[in-house]
Parts: sequence; structure tokens; C-alpha cells
Amino acid sequence: MNWVLWNDRLVKDEDIKLSKEDRGYQFGDGIYEVIRIYNGNMFTAQEHIDRFYESADKIKIVIPYTKDLFHKMIYDLIEANEVTSGQVYVQITRGATPRLHHFPITPVETVLTAYTKEYKRPVTEMVNGVAVKTIEDIRWLRCDIKSLNLLGSVLAKQEAYENGCFEALLHRGDLITEGSSTNMYAIKDGVLYTHPATNLILNGITRRVILTCCEEIGLPVVEQPISLATVLSNDEFFLSSTTTEILPVTTINGIKVNKGIRGEWTHKLQIALEAKIGQEVHA
Ligand SMILES: *Cc1c(COP(=O)(O)O)cnc(C)c1O
Repeated sequence: MNWVLWNDRLVKDEDIKLSKEDRGYQFGDGIYEVIRIYNGNMFTAQEHIDRFYESADKIKIVIPYTKDLFHKMIYDLIEANEVTSGQVYVQITRGATPRLHHFPITPVETVLTAYTKEYKRPVTEMVNGVAVKTIEDIRWLRCDIKSLNLLGSVLAKQEAYENGCFEALLHRGDLITEGSSTNMYAIKDGVLYTHPATNLILNGITRRVILTCCEEIGLPVVEQPISLATVLSNDEFFLSSTTTEILPVTTINGIKVNKGIRGEWTHKLQIALEAKIGQEVHA
């Protein structure tokens, strides 16, 4: 079944009507979230909902629903579509008004849309790892907002894809920030390094769960940017996001990390994460 959420209504995909002057469409003036569904349930739903409201607040969009009602609306959508393994995508824009950069003078209704997608875990990549390409991070300075403005990320991901890579490893000068849609981590001498949750990265929900897993498995964490110059001297490297979970990075700019195989700590973290999401250990 293919229901979509349009403001507070569940409608059929073909019944949704969006304006050519929607500010999301014209300016990218809105924010979004991607929430993973395992066994018909949302994983870390509350954390994603909290971040959705925080992102909205940071750009002064007021979501016209309580968090509890919003949670129920999303859940009803998942149920209506009978999704077992997949994701729900939700976005809200500042609404539709004649095209002027400043906010609407007379307030208009925000536009919320959400839809679901069936999706399988990338188990092959979880074992074999993925390749990344280092690319200068030219995004704006509010990467902490999950904004619809994704041009910096789109261009970086495209360059990575054109070079046969799964993801862009973004850096500002010598400092690695994150991926175009993932967070990045290095492990060296039994310590995990990752960029601190500042305005220069999106603080992933998966990142937060991973940091808890580190504590559980006794892996010390240093929230400090990884140096690009010495990136290949790390023992292990991996990336994370809601849809990818933990993927070992086995190649950077065509050069193998950890001889091109998944590292031990990375594997332990995958197992710890799987325990939390209630999935079978894959390999
Ligand atoms: C969404 C996103 C992530 C990953 O966040 P999760 O909450 O773990 O899915 C990382 N970086 C960027 C730029 C993102 O947009």
C-alpha cells in the first residue's frame, strides 16, 4: 500500500498537491529526517523526533503538532503501508508564498510530507566494506541542521560516485568532518576518534548510539577531528548512518585501510549495534 502523509492527513500518493512556490522547492527552506524501521517498529524514534523539532527550531519553523501527535502520525503511516523493514522519510517546509527570500509576513501553513520505503540492510557492505574519496567540505557552517539544502552534499556524493566510491570523506583543510550523508570514525591504537558534535557536522543518531556502544565494549572515545594528512595511518576506519548502520571503510582514495579488511573493533561495534536494533548478527 502506498499512503503518504500530507500535513495531518494520510492520502494516496496521487492525491498530494504541492505548490510550485513551496519554499522547500524554491529555497530548500525546510528540514527533514530519515527514521529506520525494523520489524515494523521505528528505531530510536524519539531521538529522531527530537532532532526534527530541534532542526525546525534552529531555522524558526514551528511544527504545528505536539511531538506525541507527530509520533502517532508517523506510526500510523508505517502501519498503513505495512512496512516491516525500511525507512520513513519526513520533511517540513516553511510553506507556500509568493517568492520572496524573507519569511512570509502573514504566516502561512507549513507543509509536512512523509512517505515510507522498503529497504534491506546492506549486509554485503557491512562485511566487505566500502570505498571513499576525500573531498573538500564546501557546505555551509550550520551542518548541525538537517536542512533540505543538500547541494554541497549532492555534489560531493556525485564526485565520489563518479570515482567508483560509496561515499565522500569530507574535510575542511586537514580536518575530516563527516561524510556527505554519514558520520566518520577512525580507530588507532585502541582509541576511537570522531569529529565533535559542533556546527560542522550533523550529530547522527547512529553516531550517538555508537558512542554508547563504545562505552559498553570498552573502546575509549576521543571526540576530536581526524587529520587528513595521516588518515591512512589509522588501524580502522568506518562510517555510520540510519540507513547504512556501520560500514567499514576499506579503501580511501584507492588505497587500502587495514589491508582492505573489516577491523576487529569495527566488527565488535557492529555486533553491539545489532544487539540494540534486535537484528541477527550477519557474519
Ligand atoms: C543524516 C546525516 C547523518 C547521519 O545521521 P543519522 O541520524 O545517523 O542517520 C550524517 N551526516 C549528515 C550530513 C546527515 O545528513
